[in-house]
Amino acid sequence: MAKICICLTAKTLWRNLQIIEKYRKYVDLAELRVDCLDPDERLLIRRFPEQANIPVILTIRRDIDGGHFVSGEGSRVNIMARGLAYADMDKRKNFAYIDLEEDINVPSLEEAARTFGTRIIRSYHNIRGDEKDLFARARSMFRNGDEIVKVGITAKSTWDVLNLLRLGKEFKGRDKILIAIGHYGVYSRILAEQFGSFLSYTSSPTDKDAVYGAPGQFDAKDLARTYRFRDITASTKIYGETGFPLAFTDGPRFFNKSFEMENIDAVYVPFPADSIPACMELAKELNIEGLSVTLPYTESVLPFLDGQTPEVQRIGVCNLMSRGSQGWLGANTDPRAFSDSLTEFIGKTNLKRVRVTVIGAGGSAKTAVSELHRLGAKVLILNRTVHKARALALPYKFAWGCLDSQDVEMVDRYSDVIIQTTPVGMEGSDTGDLAEGYSFTGKEKVMDLIYRPKVTPFLKRAADAGCQIQNGHDMFIRQAKYQYAHFVGRDFPEHLLPRIKQEVF
Ligand code: NAP
Repeated sequence: MAKICICLTAKTLWRNLQIIEKYRKYVDLAELRVDCLDPDERLLIRRFPEQANIPVILTIRRDIDGGHFVSGEGSRVNIMARGLAYADMDKRKNFAYIDLEEDINVPSLEEAARTFGTRIIRSYHNIRGDEKDLFARARSMFRNGDEIVKVGITAKSTWDVLNLLRLGKEFKGRDKILIAIGHYGVYSRILAEQFGSFLSYTSSPTDKDAVYGAPGQFDAKDLARTYRFRDITASTKIYGETGFPLAFTDGPRFFNKSFEMENIDAVYVPFPADSIPACMELAKELNIEGLSVTLPYTESVLPFLDGQTPEVQRIGVCNLMSRGSQGWLGANTDPRAFSDSLTEFIGKTNLKRVRVTVIGAGGSAKTAVSELHRLGAKVLILNRTVHKARALALPYKFAWGCLDSQDVEMVDRYSDVIIQTTPVGMEGSDTGDLAEGYSFTGKEKVMDLIYRPKVTPFLKRAADAGCQIQNGHDMFIRQAKYQYAHFVGRDFPEHLLPRIKQEVF
C-alpha cells in the first residue's frame, strides 16, 4: 500500500521535529530536505532519524532539480556522507532511504548506504517538463533491483500525466515513485496506488516557515483525512470532478465524507483537464466511474457522451457523467438544485408575477433560464457577449442585452430577483461586480451561484443596500446530493447532512 511522506522543509532540525509531531498520525515516513536547512544545521543531521522516530529519507535537492542547494557537488556529497556516517546496528537510528539523483556517481556513498540498510531512491526530476522520451529514461534507471526509481516531472498538460500513469503500468511490480508535479498532476498524489507509486510526498503548508516541497503537494492531514489515502486500493472506485483550471470546490470534502460515513470503498478526486479528449482518455485509463463536470466543459462535453438524460437534451448542459453498460451517460443535476434553492430563498414556487435578471449566458445560466421559464418568470438576460444572451433568450421570448450602461438600465424592470451566474467574483477567477452600473434599491432578492468566497463583491454591494442575498452553497449541496444518487445508485442519506455540514464546511 502506498505511503504518505511528509517533506520537512523548515530551516532547523528542531522545527522539523515539531512538524513530525504535528503530523505523526497521518504520515508513514518523512523526507528531510537538507537543502532547506540553515547551513550550520546541515552538519548536524546524523542523529535526526533517531530523534524523528520514523523512517527518514535523506535528500539534498539541487536547485536545478527544484531544490535549494547551491553550494556545489563536493559539499553536497560531504553532507550526505556525514548523514550516513557512524551507522548504527539498530537500523531505526540510520536514515532509512537516501535520495541520489540518476546522474550522481559516488560508489563509496552507495556502498555505505547498502552496507547499513539505507535504501537508495534513484531519482530523476524534470522541472521544465520537456522530457523527450520518458520511457527510455525510466528503462535506463531500473537497473539495480534494490533501488527505488523516482521520476518527478512537471506536467504541462493532462497528456503528460497520462504518460506517467502508463509508465507506472509498464513497470508494474517494480518499486517506484512517480509524481506529476504541479496543478495538472494533483491526482497523481492522491491516486499513488493507481500510479504504482510507493509513496506520496506531502507538505505542512500551515507552517509558514516551511516552504512547499514541490508544487501540487497536499497538506498531509488533508491527504490522509479528506481523501482517506490509506484506504485507497486497486479496487477502490474512483469518482471526481473535471474542469479547467478547476478552481477549489467543496466536492471532494462532500463526497469523500459521504463515502466514509456510508462505508463505501470509493474516492472523489479533482481531475483538472486541459481538454475533453484528454479527460476521456484519463477516465478510461484510470477506470473512473463518474465525474462531476464543471466550467468550461458543461456544454462542450456533449459530443463525447454516449447517452444523455432528457434534461441534458432539453437544456444542452451536462454537469455529471457516469459510466454505464452503454458508455458515458450525461446528466444534469443543476436544474432541480437551482429551482429548489431559488424558490426556497424567495419563498415562492410560482414565479408568474416575478421579474428576474440573469447575468451571464453560459452553462449555469442556461440551466437557470430554463428553470425560470418553467416556473413562469419573466426574464432579462445580460451577458458580455451579447449574441449569446440573444441566443439564450429568443426560444423563451425573454429580453436580452449586454453589460453596458444602457442595457443595464433595463434591470430596473426585471429587479424582483437578480441572479449572477458567471465565474466573475469566484476565488482564483476575475474579481469584480458585473452589475456595478445598477444601483440596488434594497428590495431585490439577490443570488450568486458562486459560493467561494461566501460573499462576492456583487453580493456585498447588494447586502450593503439592504437586499436579501444568497450564495450558491445551498444549490451546490443539492446538486451534489443528486449526483451522489447517480454515482452510488441510491438516494443520498439525508441524515448524514447535518454531520457533513458541521464537520467539513
Ligand atoms: P461557463 O459556462 O463557462 O459560463 C461563463 C459565463 O460567464 C459566460 O456568460 C461568460 O460570458 C461569463 N464570463 C466569464 N468571464 C467573464 C468576465 N471576465 N466578464 C464578463 N463575463 C464573463 O460557466 P458556468 O458553468 O455557467 O459556471 C459559472 C459559475 O457558476 C461558476 O462560478 C460556477 O462555479 C458556478 N456554478 C455554481 C453552481 C452551484 O451549485 N452553486 C453550479 C453550477 C455553476 P461570455 O459569454 O461573454 O464569455
